[in-house]
Amino acid sequence: MTVVELAPASLFDRLEPLLARVNKPIQYIGGEVNSVVKDWERTEVRWALMYPDAYEVGQPNQGIAILYEILNERDWICAERTFSIWPDLEALMREEGIGQFTLDAHRPVRAFDVLGVSFSTELGYTNLLNAIDLAGMPLHAADRTAADPIVLAGGHAAFNPEPIADFIDGAILGDGEVASLQVSELIRSWKREGRPGGRDELLVRLATSGVAYVPRFYDVGYLPDGRIAEVVPNRPGVPSRVHKHTLMDLDDWPYPKAPLVPVAETVHERYSVEVFRGCTRGCRFCQAGMITRPVRERGITTIGTMVEGGLRATGLEEVGLLSLSSADHSEIAEITTQLADRYEGTNVSLSLPSTRVDAFNIDLANELSRNGRRSGLTFAPEGGSERMRRVINKMVTEDDLIRTVAAAFASGWRQVKLYFMCGLPTETDEDVLAIADLAARVIETGREVSGTRDIRCTVSIGGFVPKPHTPFQWAAQASAETIDDRLGKLRDRIRADRRHGRAIGMRYHDGKPGIVEGLLSRGDRRVGRVIEAVWRAGGIFDGWSEHFSYERWAACAAEALAGTGVDVDWYTTRERDGDEVLPWDHLDAGLDRDWLWEDWQDSVGEVEVDDCRWTPCYDCGVCPTMGTETQIGPTGQSLLPIVAVRQG
Ligand code: SF4
Repeated sequence: MTVVELAPASLFDRLEPLLARVNKPIQYIGGEVNSVVKDWERTEVRWALMYPDAYEVGQPNQGIAILYEILNERDWICAERTFSIWPDLEALMREEGIGQFTLDAHRPVRAFDVLGVSFSTELGYTNLLNAIDLAGMPLHAADRTAADPIVLAGGHAAFNPEPIADFIDGAILGDGEVASLQVSELIRSWKREGRPGGRDELLVRLATSGVAYVPRFYDVGYLPDGRIAEVVPNRPGVPSRVHKHTLMDLDDWPYPKAPLVPVAETVHERYSVEVFRGCTRGCRFCQAGMITRPVRERGITTIGTMVEGGLRATGLEEVGLLSLSSADHSEIAEITTQLADRYEGTNVSLSLPSTRVDAFNIDLANELSRNGRRSGLTFAPEGGSERMRRVINKMVTEDDLIRTVAAAFASGWRQVKLYFMCGLPTETDEDVLAIADLAARVIETGREVSGTRDIRCTVSIGGFVPKPHTPFQWAAQASAETIDDRLGKLRDRIRADRRHGRAIGMRYHDGKPGIVEGLLSRGDRRVGRVIEAVWRAGGIFDGWSEHFSYERWAACAAEALAGTGVDVDWYTTRERDGDEVLPWDHLDAGLDRDWLWEDWQDSVGEVEVDDCRWTPCYDCGVCPTMGTETQIGPTGQSLLPIVAVRQG
């Protein structure tokens, strides 16, 4: 039985008078090239896709762009976008009683079937709460009715959605392309059957089919000391472990083909093609690398077709070849050379966000910069000392790095940026101070090779946050004081170096935001109270330093966790034992828990493990779980067509 649902009225007429009174009103207008507005009545399932940050950050998000196209390609599905609204407009909307709206047709988010929210960072959680509330929906999933959308979380942070378990209806683990269509099919059937059993039955279908993790169908028990005793399903048919979705053939899913062209300024404006998904380098700190295994390459021909079509459909002039380590694609040399040949002499610029520390990376960068400037190159040794790099399995020696930067300076590059982390497991002051020595050697090498003193090296240092589903999930996070102290010593060491210090730039943040990220990353359901308290105290846009308040998080956590026996330190700076039940143990990223534990022990023992793309499998568990294997070339194919595009 299909019931025609009448379209909700557009909110635009009520919004428009408010826009003249706010900053950057254009971000709320919609109407971008390639945006889609569908006839509401002709569709059966409707998604509001949200990235929980402002338009300038959310609009370029690749995950949202992919889902927007895939869903809208089906004539029975309507997908629109919604982003976080800045406080100036939000205040006016609340005064006027206007709810969270979509950009495409300015429809109220509350009228949709699904509010799908993609999280790449946990610092977006307060923005989720704000959007739910602004939409006029009950904050807690348990209080929602048939009139409310189901709220589904996706993205990397959804691999431990426990801290937001009270606010979401479900989480989709892993790749969203097929999963979002499966969710849509389930909703369509349920609606066509006349919505039997109401909202609860729909959630049961999502959970029992394995498409989504539905937190309310799992009970969490705690031990007297605060640790989790067990997590058990409370409904028949609900799986005790929920597995991630893995898209096995990227060539079958060449999205986005025609992404939206932003009307307002965004963090970047380029057409991005993901050249492969997954990473098996085995960097122990890297959650993205662990949870996206196995490696699945997109074929060179598909990449060529996507670039050509994407530029035509958008009019953009910058192409980004994305992935976790793009230079590791087995045919990346052919891809870059052929793209550079094709677009030589045009306005099209190519970029490959690779931070690999070897000479091959320089060759690629030289190819890609044929149409542009040779300004700066970025490398990511991540750890300052060789010992530290063995601990994190970043197999780069100091000599490797120096050889690589020498090749870069010899090719005409004049600036290098080096990424590091501070607060890594087993780290000492000496490991961090080694960053200064490394940077000095880089400057010295640059001066020698280039014959000029006009050489710069910027060291960019982030505080390390242990993440779920990595070998460091058991590790103690360094305190904010430790991070601040070590970075202060490093700054002094660089300043004291008269020969090189002025050529070395240092970028870093204080350690406090990392503690909040740590609380949210490895938190359990009890942390939901903290998030709610922070939001109620005015916390939003926590990824923005001008909005983030550590003091607010600390005060709210102290109050919300009082009497539970656990606190912020317990969640962050405490090392876990191997037998502790972790809040995400019932969520399966494909990795074998025993292997993760062994890798953690190897880390402490400074034992490295090779990339299984080029060496034998080391049994991380992903391939047998997925019934697959690492998929890499070479295919021997080429980009099509291989003709140069000249601008006349
Ligand atoms: S199962 Fe083996 S081959 Fe597959 S990703 Fe893990 S280590 Fe690599």
